[in-house]
Amino acid sequence: MVPQRIERDCVIAGGGPAGMVAGYLLARAGLRVTVLEKHDDFFRDFRGDTIHPSTIGLLGELGLRERFLQLPLSRVRTMDAVLDGERVTIADFGTLPAPDRFLVFAPQWDFLRFLADEGEALPGFELRLGARAEGLIVERGAVRGVRVSSADGALELRAPLTIAADGRASALRTDAGLTPRELGAPIDVLWFRLPKPQDPPPVTLGYLSERGMVLTIERTDSYQAGMVIRKGAFEQIEHAGLDAFRRRVAGAAPHLGSVVDALVDWEQVKLLSVQLNRLPRWHRPGFIAIGDAAHAMSPMFGVGVNYAIQDAVALVNAVADDLAAGAVPESRLAALQRRRQRPVQVMQRVQRMGHRAITRTPRDGRVAPRALVVGLRVLSPIVRRLAARFVGIGLLPEHADVRPAAQRRRRLGGPGRDQRR
Ligand SMILES: Cc1cc2nc3c(=O)[nH]c(=O)nc-3n(C[C@H](O)[C@H](O)[C@H](O)COP(=O)(O)OP(=O)(O)OC[C@H]3O[C@@H](n4cnc5c(N)ncnc54)[C@H](O)[C@@H]3O)c2cc1C
Repeated sequence: MVPQRIERDCVIAGGGPAGMVAGYLLARAGLRVTVLEKHDDFFRDFRGDTIHPSTIGLLGELGLRERFLQLPLSRVRTMDAVLDGERVTIADFGTLPAPDRFLVFAPQWDFLRFLADEGEALPGFELRLGARAEGLIVERGAVRGVRVSSADGALELRAPLTIAADGRASALRTDAGLTPRELGAPIDVLWFRLPKPQDPPPVTLGYLSERGMVLTIERTDSYQAGMVIRKGAFEQIEHAGLDAFRRRVAGAAPHLGSVVDALVDWEQVKLLSVQLNRLPRWHRPGFIAIGDAAHAMSPMFGVGVNYAIQDAVALVNAVADDLAAGAVPESRLAALQRRRQRPVQVMQRVQRMGHRAITRTPRDGRVAPRALVVGLRVLSPIVRRLAARFVGIGLLPEHADVRPAAQRRRRLGGPGRDQRR
């Protein structure tokens, strides 16, 4: 059967933070955009749940801040860790410019659903759930769209620009002939959900000691908890048994001692194989990769969501006018890569330093972050302020171009997109 053929101004593969923000912003700029998400919903546990002050600021620029903050979410003003039993503030978001002086923990599916609802109110926005981008349509050396499979059958979605926001296992970047350079990551993370204890401690990012490293990301009545382990050690840990694992978690994070019995099956424990990489080249004519598809970040400092969103904002600022005119020069995509890869490179360098600090003394599969514990203890208020900026805002914060669509087209001069076609 001949696949149905649909023309759009832009097609985006991947309904994660990068794809959804890019889709929303392009539709807001008056463009016709389709976001393809291979899953039928957004409900997947163990994804990045941090919404950074820079993203809250972006939502403010777009007039969405107040609606977003009405969702059930936890706000934290400081990022605390418990080091060898002693509580230490690592980053103080209260030192950031008002009003976004806090970080939000929101389940990622709530954030994505929020963006989808806001997007669906815009005429050009289309989200196709359960629609998988199968491969690129390439003609005369340029990407012209994607082939899609979905319950409705096969489709060809054609557009002057295809954005690969399909995450760190991106199939589209491979199809475009782009291969990431692996930077190496000596750690993995075992993620699991635990109920909060009856008398929960203040919000705590993690517990670090000679006994191991456990992260605790806030949910309303539970934690998304993660035990950092040496890369490849999961098999050994699994072999030692669930009882030994529960003891390990409680040993490293004593506050979880009363709730670790909720782990009754290895099925509840998900291995995140940590990757740190980036593409030497993010683009081809008619194609660009952004977010994890362009650069997988380590979970260290929890910045992956923020960097993915910043890529999306910078990309839309760069190409929306071109898309309104019907074509994006590849030089524009190259400039976008140059702009975004600088902060990515710096953050990845810092993440590698963090990896080295926590794996200096690995023992029986756990990480014993002695150097990091010692380093964090001596943090001064200035360092806490810098850490808040570095993590909460990032190195080159992007701001959304909020000009209305009509104004954009007027600036271009000549007839609007619809008249030209
Ligand atoms: C367990 C875990 C914990 C994390 N914790 C944090 C944290 O606390 N803070 C933080 O900032 N970051 C965290 N991260 C990283 C963060 O989740 C990512 O950096 C961020 O989600 C990247 O966004 P993205 O949109 O580029 O890609 P993704 O979020 O990976 O989204 C890609 C989307 O594309 C879809 N897709 C893939 N292939 C196709 C296809 N062929 N067709 C259609 N759709 C497709 C996928 O289903 C997915 O929804 C964590 C990651 C993991 C795995």
